Amino acid sequence: MAVGVAAEVKNKLAVVDVVGESVTLKKAGTTYKGLCPFHGEKTPSFVVTPQRETWHCFGCGLGGDIFSFVMQRDGVTFPEALRTLAQEKLVEVYPRRGIFVTSVEVRDLASLSEVRGLLESAAARLAAERATREERREATTLISELDGNAGEHDERRLIDLDQRIHRHIYRCAHNPFLEETLNEYYVLTLRIWFLALDRVARLDEAVGEHRDLMEAIRDGDGPRAEETMRRHIQGFEQAIRQVL
Ligand SMILES: [Zn+2]
Ligand SMILES: [Zn+2]
Repeated sequence: MAVGVAAEVKNKLAVVDVVGESVTLKKAGTTYKGLCPFHGEKTPSFVVTPQRETWHCFGCGLGGDIFSFVMQRDGVTFPEALRTLAQEKLVEVYPRRGIFVTSVEVRDLASLSEVRGLLESAAARLAAERATREERREATTLISELDGNAGEHDERRLIDLDQRIHRHIYRCAHNPFLEETLNEYYVLTLRIWFLALDRVARLDEAVGEHRDLMEAIRDGDGPRAEETMRRHIQGFEQAIRQVL
């Protein structure tokens, strides 16, 4: 896996949080100290420096960044450490309201896309029919953001915008149960997306589809919203399937 996801992990996760899961850390000025998990010791010589996002043990000399910590801790290679962090941690950061955590595998993609295809296209239709004036205005704002982002290939911004667009649609459907369910599926899809992020090359297409979706909501065009969403979910599944 590539730089994109690695940068994303570094951006979103703090080394002190990840280390803190397995090492008891005590704040000491601008750093944190604890007993080194990699060699036996009774006085703490293991130091985490949040400003630099690094860790170092003055006893055994080991040290590095968030990835090298997981590699040491779990005895894994870089790609495996990256996968662990991206799959298990990063997605928990994304859903800002911290919905819940369910494990998902690539083989779940077909079932997940199937149910999203059904429910989310229905939600898109409802959203187009039910959105309030304020929500239609928000759709217009999202359209200008999409236009402003055209040609941009920053994965983090893309995911952020994708998330906001889909969640806006869920909200506009005005059915709290549907909204909650779709948020749940979105988070699961995000996990799979992270596994393929750097190899999925349909960003421009997706932007066009999002624009269509937001226009349909803005204009109250239910059938167009439904059909566009169906295509959008299918296209996404195919794109991911091709690279996994
Ligand atoms: Zn040590
Ligand atoms: Zn999307």
